[in-house]
Amino acid sequence: MKPKGAAVQNNPHTTLITSTAPVAPHTHGGRAKCLQRLVRLEMPVPRTVALSFDAVQRIAEGQIPDLAAILEQFEPTALLCVRPSSEDPDWGGPGAVLNIGMNEARFAELSNSMGDELAAAMYLRFVQSYAIHVARLDADVFDEIDEDGVAGLKRTLHAYEDETDEVFPEDRGEQLIGVLRSMARAWDGTSARLLRQAKGAPADAGLGLVIQEMIPGVGQGECGSGVLQLVDPTTGMPQITGRYLSQSQGRDALGEDVSALYLEKDPRGPSLEEVAPNAFADLKSQAALMREKLREEMQVEFVIQNGNVHILDGVRVQRTSRAAMRIAVRLAEDGIIPPQEAVMRVDPHALNELLHRQVHPEAERDVLTTAIGASPGASTGKIVFTAAEAQASAARGEACVLVRRETSPEDVRGMHAAVAVLTEKGGMTSHAAVIGRGLGLPCIVGASEMRFQTKKKMLTTPDGRVFKTGDVLTIDGSSGQVLAGQPEMLEAALDDCFQTLMGWADAERDIEIRANADTPADAQTARNFQAQGIGLCRTEHMFFDPGRLIVMREMIFAQTSSGRAAVLERLLPMQRDDFVQLFRIMEGQPVCIRLFDPPLHEFLPTTRGGQRELAEALDLPVSDVERRVSAMTEYNPMLGLRGVRLGVTVPEIYDMQARAIFEATLEARKNGAPVVPEVMIPLVSAKREVELVKSRIDSVAAAVAAEKGQEFEYRLGVMVETPRACLRAEEIAPNTAFLSFGTNDLTQMTYGLSRDDAGRFMSAYVRRGVFTEDPFHVLDADGVGELLKLGSERGRAAQPDVTLSVCGEHGGNPESIAICRDLGFDYVSCSPFRVPVARLAAAQLAISSRLGG
Ligand code: PEP
Ligand code: MG
Repeated sequence: MKPKGAAVQNNPHTTLITSTAPVAPHTHGGRAKCLQRLVRLEMPVPRTVALSFDAVQRIAEGQIPDLAAILEQFEPTALLCVRPSSEDPDWGGPGAVLNIGMNEARFAELSNSMGDELAAAMYLRFVQSYAIHVARLDADVFDEIDEDGVAGLKRTLHAYEDETDEVFPEDRGEQLIGVLRSMARAWDGTSARLLRQAKGAPADAGLGLVIQEMIPGVGQGECGSGVLQLVDPTTGMPQITGRYLSQSQGRDALGEDVSALYLEKDPRGPSLEEVAPNAFADLKSQAALMREKLREEMQVEFVIQNGNVHILDGVRVQRTSRAAMRIAVRLAEDGIIPPQEAVMRVDPHALNELLHRQVHPEAERDVLTTAIGASPGASTGKIVFTAAEAQASAARGEACVLVRRETSPEDVRGMHAAVAVLTEKGGMTSHAAVIGRGLGLPCIVGASEMRFQTKKKMLTTPDGRVFKTGDVLTIDGSSGQVLAGQPEMLEAALDDCFQTLMGWADAERDIEIRANADTPADAQTARNFQAQGIGLCRTEHMFFDPGRLIVMREMIFAQTSSGRAAVLERLLPMQRDDFVQLFRIMEGQPVCIRLFDPPLHEFLPTTRGGQRELAEALDLPVSDVERRVSAMTEYNPMLGLRGVRLGVTVPEIYDMQARAIFEATLEARKNGAPVVPEVMIPLVSAKREVELVKSRIDSVAAAVAAEKGQEFEYRLGVMVETPRACLRAEEIAPNTAFLSFGTNDLTQMTYGLSRDDAGRFMSAYVRRGVFTEDPFHVLDADGVGELLKLGSERGRAAQPDVTLSVCGEHGGNPESIAICRDLGFDYVSCSPFRVPVARLAAAQLAISSRLGG
């Protein structure tokens, strides 16, 4: 009997897949739709019937579909398989069940054509999967059966009968109904639902099923089955990968099983290409056609029967993020998809990983703990517990991981020397996190489940293992995992393919991306990643160099304004050199320099020994030093004498910095395109603060111009990082060329949530749904976003030309960039290593808003 299509074609829920059948992903699922596409491409796809979401739902509820109409589509002796077909194939579904229809009669027939052993193996596999999935027996029922072949089959059938008190069903229809019902019900199970929801499936996602005729894969010529794809799923490089099991090859002269063949010719052993060259060539061209027409790298599932290729299925190749980028770019370069689509296909969050070395996806991981991955990438090194040890280790040429309870500005040099940082305390915007991201240094913070005994130089893991100085750790800042030892790594993927994608992204983007860069090395990274200027240079880091620290300390101990100014004179040339270097690297682009921000006591030693040394260096009694340190101590330093408050009360520091900036501007432009320096005042909350600082800075500019006999341009702006500055933006804006929202402090102050301490309970808060995300990581659209909206609207109302931007850590986060773009900001500024992520995310926003998304 030749099957007909009419009966099932009339039933919208049970559809024979033909090129014109009404099959859609939202009614029959992605696999059914893909099979229809393959049919349209006239590929040799076995006969397939698709059951709609509705039909499967009804089966789950106990309604039997029109079985006769389904079975009529297939030869009476054909074996069938059933596979899941969810709307998005990534949502998964119950495992496929093969060889439905196996029974004593089929077994006898197949034993004749393929031999007892193979036929028994097929039957046995079906009985086991039926027993487990349909009859719901425990898998261990069959554990004791250690024979293969016919004996094993017999024992398996007996075990089935013993456990179920029923004989194994012989009827293909009865078997099929059982399988359909078990798969339909499996989809409704709690764990299946949670699993797919974690992959983004809606709560009411439907399941379709496809019933396909199986190709026996036995005959005179080459027979076998396998999967093939045209790319390497780890790198995305063009390369035939997959596997092939040949039924015809059997065993070699030594009795070894040689049924697993290479696909392409390979010196290591026989290949499908040699055994069946025509089939191999056919398969390759079908795979290429699939790639071209389905506009995707596909894994082809195939059977070869008597040397002829049958295509059972095509599924999107599973891939790493680096492969995803290369695949998208190659599809666009081959003209299969437009470049804009390639830009849309790469996940900006995943791009972050590609910019750094990573732990190889297949490497074994000995995970000691998981905490906040504050700066992505992975590095391996020997443990050190102090910045000084880190520097010594770097001097010996040994990679080291700096382990601290938390870091402070004094640790920055140690961080420069280390290959990774691990801290017990902190969150996404704590000191270690911000500096780590700036340096592109893998960093994990908030690892509070470990015991940090830095004085004893011991680190104890939650399971009691002790790590000491010199022991080897790997910090995977992408996943937040602290690993023992040295797993295999994958290098960063900053190749041509990355550059091509970035070029396409830039052509679409409509918001500028700058970088936060404090040092020449940061600036060079920013330039390499094609940042459009520096949006934040935190100048305080420049004062922690040992030669400068002592001058800073002298300045803090100066009694009078003129005494302070005299000491600062010595810092001026050093600071000017810093800026000359930055301006030369960034030539032709804007550079925004933030005036001094932290509380001064951060520059004073905290230990008794340090205070004694300082007393010696300044030739003061140690009691004077102690008194000064204690006088400067604040209960809440982050809300104390810092930022513009220092600028107002100790104005000599800003005077010196302004002079250094302006002199450097003139110096740098002697050889190179001029930069327009932007001078930014931090922590402003009142208009008068800006007026006071502005008048001094304007007069320094006038003095420098007069002394040098040269005019120059500069822009003065305000960092909006207190809620009051947002609310009063209308009166602040007229005095400024730009308003740059410092969303780290703004988030801290809006929530009243310490950025350095929040790490201790942030994960509990997110887990319990108090916050949907860490607000230091993803900008809080409802609260902090509202302040950004108010601040920008009020600022623009007073000064329509005011430049608006974000320079907090959120500037590199795709969701936060969307908020800034919606508010019409001119640019976002983020850590140099996040610049490509921001460029890609901004391009995607522009493309989707153009498409009305
Ligand atoms: C901010 O507060 O958002 C900011 C960029 O400054 P810092 O992180 O240096 O406080
Ligand atoms: Mg700040």
